[in-house]
Amino acid sequence: IDVEDLIALVRNYNPRSNADLIRRAYAYGMQMHEGQFRKSGEPYFTHPVAVAAILTEQQLDDATIVTALLHDTIEDTKSTYSEVERLFGTEVAELVDGVTKLTNLQLSSTESQQAENFRKMLLTLSDDVRVILIKLADRLHNMRTLDHMAREKQLKIASETLFMYAPLAHRLGLYNIKTELEDLALKFKDPEIYEEIIGKLQKTQAVRTRFINAFTLPIRRSLDKAGLHYEIKSRTKSIYSIWNKIVKKGVPFEEIYDVFAIRIILDTQSETEKSDCWRVYSIVTDFYQPSPER
Ligand code: MN
Repeated sequence: IDVEDLIALVRNYNPRSNADLIRRAYAYGMQMHEGQFRKSGEPYFTHPVAVAAILTEQQLDDATIVTALLHDTIEDTKSTYSEVERLFGTEVAELVDGVTKLTNLQLSSTESQQAENFRKMLLTLSDDVRVILIKLADRLHNMRTLDHMAREKQLKIASETLFMYAPLAHRLGLYNIKTELEDLALKFKDPEIYEEIIGKLQKTQAVRTRFINAFTLPIRRSLDKAGLHYEIKSRTKSIYSIWNKIVKKGVPFEEIYDVFAIRIILDTQSETEKSDCWRVYSIVTDFYQPSPER
């Protein structure tokens, strides 16, 4: 995506965004990384741009988007802290510096050291949470493009993602990022079973859709009758959590019954919100037995 695409993504949620600042950072980042390439053969600068685009999904501010564009400059190019500060201000320079320091943290890979890793990361977090958000987006893009790395490197990065970055995303409430990180890590750690699960999910997709429709139909009818404003969403369990059940608990795929979840989301405008939730609960249990374990 080019700089105008990126600005459009930001403008979607922040009409007052400083487009000129983003253009300057884009031009500067591109110039600094000129002549550098990713393992895939693409120009290196496609990476910071992709990281910035990921962060627009979290609707982050201009300083964060600009930092994403510059996040590898101090580390990997002739750019310096003082130059970034002079061109883009102290806030951005400190953020870039924070991401660089976080990248260079010496993390231990044993489970007993995980608490120490979290402590180190959380010390950074207390400075500015945006540093961690950028780092997570950076890791997500690196995981999405891990195909081009050597096998050994893939395994190392995938393990680090599982023991460090996915739990961190979980703690920050970034569930989509957590899930994608875990699924991608599994793709490289255990490619065979990853493909197998994907294949089985695809094969059962039509049945699942039919089941979900049939399952929600009586609920929809009653909710409509009650005049409630709602939305029903269904979500399939992540590949990684299915893998967890199969491998760690020894449950065959065919016997994982909670392979999807259904959510009913109510319009929260109304003041009677809480009692509405109970009405919905009561409607659901008119048709289905509650299971005390879940
Ligand atoms: Mn990076």
